[in-house]
Amino acid sequence: MLMNLDKTLDLIRQIAESTVRGEADAVDKEARWPEQSMRQLQQEGLGGFVVPLENGGLGQGLLGLAQACEILGEESASAGLCFGMHCVGTAMIAAKATAYQKKHFLEPIAAGEHLTTLALSEPGTGAHFYFPQTQLLSVSKDEFMLRGEKTFVTNGGQADSYVISTMGVDPEAMQHEFSCVVVEAGSQGMNWGKDWDGIGMRGNSSRSLALKDVRVPARNLLGEQGDQLWYMFQVVAPYFLTAMSGTYLGLAQAAFNQAREHMMHRTYRHSGMSLSQNQLLQHRLGTLWAKIERTRQLIYHACRQYDSGDASAILSIISSKAEVAHCCVEVVNEAMTLSGGIAYRDNSRLETLLRDARAAHIMAPTTDVLYTWLGRALLEQPILES
Ligand SMILES: Cc1cc2nc3c(=O)[nH]c(=O)nc-3n(C[C@H](O)[C@H](O)[C@H](O)COP(=O)(O)OP(=O)(O)OC[C@H]3O[C@@H](n4cnc5c(N)ncnc54)[C@H](O)[C@@H]3O)c2cc1C
Repeated sequence: MLMNLDKTLDLIRQIAESTVRGEADAVDKEARWPEQSMRQLQQEGLGGFVVPLENGGLGQGLLGLAQACEILGEESASAGLCFGMHCVGTAMIAAKATAYQKKHFLEPIAAGEHLTTLALSEPGTGAHFYFPQTQLLSVSKDEFMLRGEKTFVTNGGQADSYVISTMGVDPEAMQHEFSCVVVEAGSQGMNWGKDWDGIGMRGNSSRSLALKDVRVPARNLLGEQGDQLWYMFQVVAPYFLTAMSGTYLGLAQAAFNQAREHMMHRTYRHSGMSLSQNQLLQHRLGTLWAKIERTRQLIYHACRQYDSGDASAILSIISSKAEVAHCCVEVVNEAMTLSGGIAYRDNSRLETLLRDARAAHIMAPTTDVLYTWLGRALLEQPILES
């Protein structure tokens, strides 16, 4: 399906302002996966957002992903991230898809019949998600067996397949030589942990997954042995970081909108003056806007660099996610101050945004790890420590 980016984003905006907004409150209050939003996105042909055109998708790149997640994230950070993680998983499958993988995964994804997601994090390695300990054991030339444990799998229990990182198949493989396989939902030996009940991002369904000798067809292996670093810096990091950057940028914009709304409409009886007329507050709101806008421009710039094949894009992509984490936490905090006691009341929209924003720093790669990566790269050292 050929649809230009502006038209595609208009469609996403329509869905965001109706369905996503409509269920956002219940998603947060009830820790409910944003089912209606995700299903509508799939039904409207957006499941194949990053699937290549030749496989029936919309063929969008990183800039499109950032903007789509931003639009969704402004209404519900969980919906932004659930859609984003589906796109990240899809991009990983698409990067080096075999004929089988195109037919079996990409085409159904493009048709809105298949949802995928990413399972990287593990309890044993936490923020260092690029050192998976899950084992991928060779059973025969046609089959592998998976053994290990994943945590915080967004869309957990909801997706039709899971892109799972593992140690390299080769027993001699180094720690960083991980592999990725696509595991179909319902495979025997997949055991889900309890429902997700986080303090924020409550719609994510970010659940734990135990993998007890799960059989996986060898044809579900993504790429080849030795592709790991290529995957990490060409696909995983760019798409994963950008899905989060877009989502948290949308969240920051939502917080700004709340503060602006309050300032526009709050008028004191004793003076007849509106908060919008106070010069100090005008200055503070202006500062917030500038913070969001410079983060937005950094994110878009990083995406354009990547989409045009610029090899240095990764530095801007890494910076984007670190900066957006600071941006959204600071903007929500300041928006709460500008909105006074009303925002501090239970059940305010800003309360949800405050809880959701806190995840931006801790979702891997975490802010501290990202700045360390940047420093290493700038000092001409390999980004990942050995
Ligand atoms: C809402 C939510 C959704 C998520 N969704 C997904 C998902 O879809 N897929 C997925 O794979 N994972 C997902 N995650 C997992 C997330 O990426 C993990 O929280 C992350 O891996 C951190 O792991 P940890 O909690 O074990 O932190 P820890 O590893 O215990 O780290 C604690 C702190 O120590 C810091 N730290 C550790 N090592 C260093 C170092 N060398 N230098 C500087 N600081 C360091 C970290 O930055 C962090 O701040 C999600 C998490 C959340 C909260």
